[in-house]
Formats: sequence, C-alpha cells, structure tokens
Amino acid sequence: MLLAAFVLAYFTFRTTFQLDKLRQQSVLESTLALANERADRLDKRIITEDNTVFAIADPAQLPALTERWVPTAQRETPTVRAILILDDAHDVLAFASRAGGAWGEEEDFRRLLVRRLLGDMELWSQPENELRHLHREYDGQSYLVSYWQKNVEGRHYIIVAWHDIGRIVKDTLPTLFAEQGQSKLNVVDEQGRIVYGPPLRSGEFTVGVRIPTTLYNWRMQVSPAASEEIAQSVQNRKTLELVLVTFSCVVIVAGAFTVFLAVEKERRLNVLKTEFVANVSHELKTPLALVRMFGEMLQSGRVASDEKRKEYLDIIVNESERLSSLIENVLDFARVERGRGSYEFAEGDVGVVVSRAAQVLKYRAEREHTRLDVQIQSQLPECRIDDRALQLAVINLIDNAIKYGRPETDSGGAIVKISAEQQDENIVIRVQDHGPGIAKAERERIFERFVRGTKTPDKDGVPVRGSGIGLALVKHIAESHGGTAHVESEVGKGSTFILTIPVGAQKAMAIDGKSAQDIV
Ligand code: ADP
Repeated sequence: MLLAAFVLAYFTFRTTFQLDKLRQQSVLESTLALANERADRLDKRIITEDNTVFAIADPAQLPALTERWVPTAQRETPTVRAILILDDAHDVLAFASRAGGAWGEEEDFRRLLVRRLLGDMELWSQPENELRHLHREYDGQSYLVSYWQKNVEGRHYIIVAWHDIGRIVKDTLPTLFAEQGQSKLNVVDEQGRIVYGPPLRSGEFTVGVRIPTTLYNWRMQVSPAASEEIAQSVQNRKTLELVLVTFSCVVIVAGAFTVFLAVEKERRLNVLKTEFVANVSHELKTPLALVRMFGEMLQSGRVASDEKRKEYLDIIVNESERLSSLIENVLDFARVERGRGSYEFAEGDVGVVVSRAAQVLKYRAEREHTRLDVQIQSQLPECRIDDRALQLAVINLIDNAIKYGRPETDSGGAIVKISAEQQDENIVIRVQDHGPGIAKAERERIFERFVRGTKTPDKDGVPVRGSGIGLALVKHIAESHGGTAHVESEVGKGSTFILTIPVGAQKAMAIDGKSAQDIV
C-alpha cells in the first residue's frame, strides 16, 4: 500500500509537471509568434517607406529631389527625416530635408555620415540596388539609416534615407501597436533601457525578439497580459494537486494502518483464544484427574482411616464443584458468544440471588479458610431479573474473591464481604476482598473476554488458574439487565467489584441475536 501511495504520488507529480511544461511551452510559443509578428510589422513599415524613398530619389534628377519628395513626405514617409545622394567620392550631391530651417543638425549629420557612418556601412561588400540598414549609437544618440548603391549612366551613387528615431518611437510605434489585444509590449535598446512601452515583469512568460532588419539593435518584448494570472493559476493548480496527492497518500496510509490494527487485533484475539483453550483444558483436566485418583483410592478400600476418607471425599466434592462451575461458565459464555444467549427475565429478589450464590460457595470458602460476610438490605424491591444468570455473575465475583484474596491478618483467614443494597434507582451488589488489588491500567481490560491480568497473583507460589471469561460474562449479564459492572481497587489492599441492577422497569433488551462481542 505504501508502494502504491508512492507510485501514485510519483505519476501524479510527473504528469502534472509534464502538463505544466506543455502548457507553458504553448503559451511561450504563441507569445513568441506574437513578438515576431510585431517586430516584422515594424520592419515592414520602415521598409515600405524606404522603397518609396528609393523610387523618388533618382540620381538623374538631383536638383528636383526636394520638390519631388517633401510634399508627400509627411504622408508617405513620415519617419524619414532627410534623403541624401552621394557620389563615389562621398561628396553629398543632394540633401533633401523635412526639417526646414534646422540646418545645424543637418550639418552635423552630414559630417557624421561622411566621417563615420559611410565607413560602418561596409559599402564595398554590398551589391547594387539592394536596400541595407545601419542602426547604431553615435555619441550616445541612436541612428537608423537605410541606404542603397545605384549605378546611373556609368556613375556610382549612394542614396541614404535618414530616419527620425524620435518620431518612430513617438508616432509609428504607438500607431502600429495601438491595439495590442491581450498582451503587453515594449521595446528596449541595446543596454536594456526601455525605449517604448511599459516595464514588463521578467516572468517566465515574457518573450523578447530582436527586430530583424531595421532597428536590429533593439529588442521587442511581449508578455501575455494575463501572465501573472497564468502564473498564479499554475501555482494554484500545483498547490491543489499537491494537497490532493498528499490527502490520497494520507488516506492510503491511514487505510493501511487500520488494516494493520485490525489484523493485529485479530492476531491478539487468536493468541488469547489459544491461551483460553489451553487454560480451560488444564482447568478441566486437573480436577478430573484428582476426582478420579481419589475416587479410585476410595474404591480400592486401601484408605486406612475415616479421617483420610473424609479428606479425600472433600477433595472430590471440591474439585467437582470447580469443574461444574467452570463448565457452566464455558457453556454460558459459548452461548452468548454465538449470539444465542437468551435471558429469561422475571420478577425476582436480588437479595435472595446474592445469598444463594454465597451459599453455593460457602463450603469452598471454608476449605480455603475464607469467611464470607454477607449483608443483604432487608426488603429490597423486586426487579426484573434472570436469577440463574445473575447468580452465575455473583458466583464468579465471589469465586474470584476467594481465588485471589489473601488472609487479612497473619492469624485469621481471609474475609470476603458481599453486600446488596438499594442506592437510588439501583440495587448495588458489592464483592470486596483484601487481595492484591488490580493495577489501574488493567481495571477495564479484565472485563474483556479471554483477558487475564498480566500480574495475576500467585497463591502460595502457585499461579492462580483461570480462563479469562468470568468477568466478561459478569459484564455481559450486568449490561443485559440494563446495569453496569466495574471494579474499584487499590493495589496491595484489595478490590471491590460492583454490579448495579436498575430497579423498576427492566431496561435491558432480550438478548436474542445479540452477540457478547457487541457488549463485551
Ligand atoms: P480468570 O479469573 O479465570 O483469570 P476472570 O475474567 O474472572 O478470569 O478475571 C480476569 C482477571 O482479572 C484475572 O485473571 C485476574 O488477573 C483479575 N481479577 C479478577 N478478580 C480479581 C480479584 N478479586 N483480585 C485480583 N485480581 C482479580
């Protein structure tokens, strides 16, 4: 079962882990596709403007460049700030600018272009008529230029479109990505500084891609708008699954433990039953052997004195008494154990029953040097009782008191006090001895079937014999009368077994079909 719990936990966690990975992967893939699409969209927009520039910037009509371009520039090429046409010697042949009067900046750019940008363009390695881009920082400022090389009538030209990055960030990006749908987007430069858009949580679902062609030093980052919710729900599911698996494991382990307890209980009961069988066999064999041995001696006529003969007869009577009380106990016990024990209730006098029980054990008590002190309250009210069963219960209690009791004083014998009196709504029967007492831990258990006290006292060095069913029967009989049975005891001083039988309507059920196990 523990192995099953382990396997269950392992496979559940593994499946959860794999599913999570797949889910995560699919979210990542769709976010990546979105980021690529957005980056391509930006590229396409800039390249479309570049193509317009390329169509307009004709080296054959250099002087007309400004006129041809500027009127449509705002509409068709909004991000292009200036167009320059240069010759082989890197002389600027034409410079069309939308800036109007801001010549200072234009001049700076022209110088920058000639001194540094053209070198970085690596023109020698590039074919003609092919659109190229240079995206780089110069003196802390970001530049984007698109350029081509063109041959017209045998002369070589370089056409350069200078893009206004500020305008791209302020106008183009917001218009392009006005409708972002469910996701958040930003653009960061080569140092990771945000150029456009809000800061994004660098969670597991945020994806960054390089803008492929134009602003290639920048990265576009996209994260699903619900990334926090997704992460939270993934975490919640993980927690829930963890709780469920832990709960299943606890249930399995608890089940295993319950089965173990049941098996252990059954095993203990079996041990007790085996002991019981051994005890009962012994209990039956010993008195029988004695009865037979002394009977044969008497039969053979070899017993010399009358005194001896009387002694042997006493032994035979004594042992037969024990034998019949044991057999009665076992038969009664077997009856209730099979669930067939039925009681026959009738109006009766508990005092009479108790005196009769004491009477039955009178001679046995005498032989064991024990005095039975019987005190029955006069005029006890009648109750509904099964007097045979109740007598058996009291006999068992008195028998135990004689068996386990000790002399009260060195000189005198032992005394067993037996009383019956009314207390409120109950008749209370007490059997008190001055024996070894019963340890607190055992005071409840000794009423269970087959259970004998672990510290069952010796008498004169010989272990006291028994079967462990006497008190179980007592309890069963008491409860069948609607009463109780318990013991008050002080170790070393003695025990008082107390049996209560309710007066008035007899509350107990006819016990037909009710097993002793239900009660005992
Ligand atoms: P048995 O006497 O055959 O062992 P019982 O069910 O009558 O079985 O008693 C169960 C156990 O309770 C005994 O083994 C003994 O340890 C303890 N016991 C019963 N009566 C007394 C008593 N009067 N004094 C001390 N111990 C007792």
